Amino acid sequence: MRDLAGTMTMVPTPYQVVARRVETDDVVTLTLRAAGRPVLEPWRPGQFTMVYAFGIGEVPLSVSGGDGDDIRHTVRAVGPVSRAICSAPVGSVLGLRGPFGVGWPVPADQGVDAVIVAGGIGLAPLRPVVTALLAQHRGGRVVVLIGARTPADLLYTEEYPSWRRAGAQVLITVDRAAAGWTDHVGVVTTLLDQAFRTADAASAVGYVCGPELMMRLTGRALVDRGMAATQVHVSIERDMRCGVAVCGHCQLGPLLLCRDGPVASFEVAQPLFAIREL
Ligand SMILES: Cc1cc2nc3c(=O)[nH]c(=O)nc-3n(C[C@H](O)[C@H](O)[C@H](O)COP(=O)(O)OP(=O)(O)OC[C@H]3O[C@@H](n4cnc5c(N)ncnc54)[C@H](O)[C@@H]3O)c2cc1C
Repeated sequence: MRDLAGTMTMVPTPYQVVARRVETDDVVTLTLRAAGRPVLEPWRPGQFTMVYAFGIGEVPLSVSGGDGDDIRHTVRAVGPVSRAICSAPVGSVLGLRGPFGVGWPVPADQGVDAVIVAGGIGLAPLRPVVTALLAQHRGGRVVVLIGARTPADLLYTEEYPSWRRAGAQVLITVDRAAAGWTDHVGVVTTLLDQAFRTADAASAVGYVCGPELMMRLTGRALVDRGMAATQVHVSIERDMRCGVAVCGHCQLGPLLLCRDGPVASFEVAQPLFAIREL
């Protein structure tokens, strides 16, 4: 099938696994490089690709980074396809389609503060926002709040020092502490008081990704602290198949999330969160 621009969108492009990093017990980051021509179009933070484990199936995965034509995906093994992708060895080939969806909006005003709130694997799609905002040297504050179930579930821990050196305030919490843990314990919203000691709620832009309950509560808490619901952005996950707004699997209210999402403002998302997936 071809989209309106005449580009092949339903045929996976072969990408080879060139690096594989074990992040946690059930999360792996793969760096993928085009095995030949063509290569995918450049991606924007917040976009996803459909990743095909040949002979097993295809799932949507957010882009968590990448340099040049390389694409990084961070994937948690939850079922047959994500398990196959997680265990793909260096040298093996996966199929990629995309990038699809709208990305995280980057504030036009350079001085605006950004509050980024991640729960668990939700840090994967937010990582490119953090690195993009820090690379832009914008002048606004960048506050990154990270929550995980346990210390062993925290992602990208080796990157936090460089984010801090680049000027970000990085606050971390876990639901359950482990031996030796001296940092915060509690759900990620318990970090908000500390975050808003430095960030200006009235003008800040919010980026939230994690389990749906966490996004609902965090979005609400950010708005309660004075942020505009139009300025708080969340990433809504629903079952996706085609990625090109044809099959209708990801329809949620008026949105086809593969095309109109997965990123949406909290103003748009809040009423839609009440709709359960079939
Ligand atoms: C736009 C988008 C971006 C995504 N980005 C990432 C990413 O960067 N990294 C990552 O690890 N996962 C991401 N996901 C989720 C990922 O697509 C699913 O985990 C995957 O489709 C599961 O497929 P499976 O065949 O392995 O498991 P399945 O057999 O389909 O599911 C196994 C279990 O996981 C649950 N599950 C399946 N899909 C989801 C989901 N979307 N959200 C919550 N629970 C689910 C099922 O209910 C079931 O309990 C994203 C999803 C979307 C829609």
